[in-house]
Amino acid sequence: MVSACLAAPSLSQTLSARAQLTPPERGDTLVTFASDDFNTNPINIRIPFVVRGAKNTGKIALTYDDGPTPGVTDFILEQLAAHRSKATFFVIGQRVRAFPKLAQTIVEQGHEIANHSYTHPDLSKLQDGAVANEIEKTQKTIEDICGVTPHYFRPPYGAFRATQGALARAQHVQVIIWSIDPQDWRRPGAEIISQRITAPSSGGDIILCHDLHFQTAAASRIFIPHLAKNFSLVTLSNLLRGQHS
Ligand SMILES: [Zn+2]
Repeated sequence: MVSACLAAPSLSQTLSARAQLTPPERGDTLVTFASDDFNTNPINIRIPFVVRGAKNTGKIALTYDDGPTPGVTDFILEQLAAHRSKATFFVIGQRVRAFPKLAQTIVEQGHEIANHSYTHPDLSKLQDGAVANEIEKTQKTIEDICGVTPHYFRPPYGAFRATQGALARAQHVQVIIWSIDPQDWRRPGAEIISQRITAPSSGGDIILCHDLHFQTAAASRIFIPHLAKNFSLVTLSNLLRGQHS
């Protein structure tokens, strides 16, 4: 939901707050990685959530969460097409219902569409049945409207418990986090967003953006051509092919 995203604190703030409010049960570890941890120590994870692809492949996966959003998603699609680049869109199920043509356009243009829940709740606070429903309802909505079955799922706010990974696995979606987070949802300005994304990289990164506010679309017009000079911008399936089953 738009309001939920606007009000969202940083990932690390979210996670520390969650830890205080709902101490994990034994054996149920809340994801506690801030995006900085992903960048510096992405291998040190004990849960099967993907944070990046292999380095030195010349590939980067650009991902956009929370859409589709008329006036934003379509502008980003134009930038991607202009630079022969692909991206992955983690859509919210109820927004796919609201804007079906835009969701279809994402797929028609060769981009990947993925699952970001139906109503964008904090899944780490929900019961298993409700979490499974959020994932399944979105899978079915995307299948109905776009004619494809998503392979990937990203929990809203990155808030997910280790044991909830099994709920995603049961629905044949892999949990994807990210390795670069420009905090674009805070709307720091298109130039700042772009600078944070175009920092030196060895490739393999999964970049988190949001096709929710036009500022991110304006930033995309800056950073997509810059990234495309040095890397192939590919879908997650392309980046992760053969690495994760
Ligand atoms: Zn989101």
